[in-house]
Amino acid sequence: MSYDVIIVGAGISGLLSAIELADSGRKICIIEKSRIGQGSSWAGGGILLPIYPWRYPEPVNTLVEWSLRHYPEFLAALCADTGIDPEWQACGHLILDADPDATVIRRWSDRFSVEIEYISGKKLNRVEPGLSQHHAGALWAPNIGQVRSPRLLKALAVKANQMKVDIQENTALTGIKTDNRTIKTIKTSNSDHTAGSVLIAAGAWSGDLEQYGLPHTAVQPVRGQMIQFQTDPGAIRTITLHKEHYVIPRKDGKVLAGSTLEHCGFDKTTTREAAQFLRQQAVSLFPMLESVPLINHWAGLRPGNDRQTPLIGRHPDYDNLFYNTGHYRNGIILGLASARLCCDIMLGRPPILAPADYAWA
Ligand SMILES: Cc1cc2nc3c(=O)[nH]c(=O)nc-3n(C[C@H](O)[C@H](O)[C@H](O)COP(=O)(O)OP(=O)(O)OC[C@H]3O[C@@H](n4cnc5c(N)ncnc54)[C@H](O)[C@@H]3O)c2cc1C
Repeated sequence: MSYDVIIVGAGISGLLSAIELADSGRKICIIEKSRIGQGSSWAGGGILLPIYPWRYPEPVNTLVEWSLRHYPEFLAALCADTGIDPEWQACGHLILDADPDATVIRRWSDRFSVEIEYISGKKLNRVEPGLSQHHAGALWAPNIGQVRSPRLLKALAVKANQMKVDIQENTALTGIKTDNRTIKTIKTSNSDHTAGSVLIAAGAWSGDLEQYGLPHTAVQPVRGQMIQFQTDPGAIRTITLHKEHYVIPRKDGKVLAGSTLEHCGFDKTTTREAAQFLRQQAVSLFPMLESVPLINHWAGLRPGNDRQTPLIGRHPDYDNLFYNTGHYRNGIILGLASARLCCDIMLGRPPILAPADYAWA
């Protein structure tokens, strides 16, 4: 078959890019080696802010700012169009171990228009009554929220279908045929396709595609494990972060606690040690979780990337090869802006942000 664009990978990066490209009238195919959204995107906590965002480079925060501005409207339309509610909610975000240098945080919050304040005593207790009494104060970002990643991915898949995107599951990219600076043919485990352009959105596997003839990409898998409790709805109210670990309460009382950072290749198994550790961390924040049984434990492979800024744009050696990958811990919050920027570059539109910040070094 022949398409305007073939996208490799049906995670959040591939699906959002497909929807944006299809919206401009292009004929799009996504090839997905397993099932839609079952990569890192499904495993993600869905916090709509990087943890300790002021520690990230400016280009990451400009993507965050754009996504924060546009997600509410996008998600409302997605829910209306598909009938699937991604459960966006501005539940607020508490950070218990704020960096000692308050000026860095103030500068970041002014620069990126994120409301944040230090709270303690009665206000902290009002915001999060279930929190352990050991914590005297916290940074409080009342407008920061979350989405429920598996639901978001389901809704994106339905939307892509509505827009006539051809999504081929259980179909892996296995090779390419090139002619000078152009990719002519995409070989897959099922058949060969031709396309005007190719977009790599293969998450943690983006670097692994070198074995199929694609250029070297410094994206590596970083395993993250997460556990889930069932509490009464409202028992915990806010996304709470302490020493790199966090608790995320869903509307129906499910509470996620994450996550680990493990460099162990493409191994997605879960470990008992990680579950115990994450449980300890969660209980030290919310003592009520001590007596609550775990109902789920999973792992996902993040697209790790040493430079922290995702890779978005055209590969310098090819005229029709593009990347939208390497979002590491932040692919859900960065996803909307990244897909828009990537499609601006592919379609030759004025870009929402300066592309040079995300280009190949
Ligand atoms: C435990 C955990 C918690 C997280 N929490 C958050 C959070 O709170 N907020 C946030 O913003 N981010 C979070 N993230 C990060 C976020 O989930 C990722 O950055 C994001 O999902 C990456 O999306 P992606 O589409 O690039 O990759 P993926 O979702 O992994 O999709 C890539 C797809 O490419 C497919 N693929 C690979 N190779 C091939 C091939 N050869 N042929 C065809 N298809 C192929 C894969 O099967 C996969 O489906 C978290 C991640 C984890 C693991």
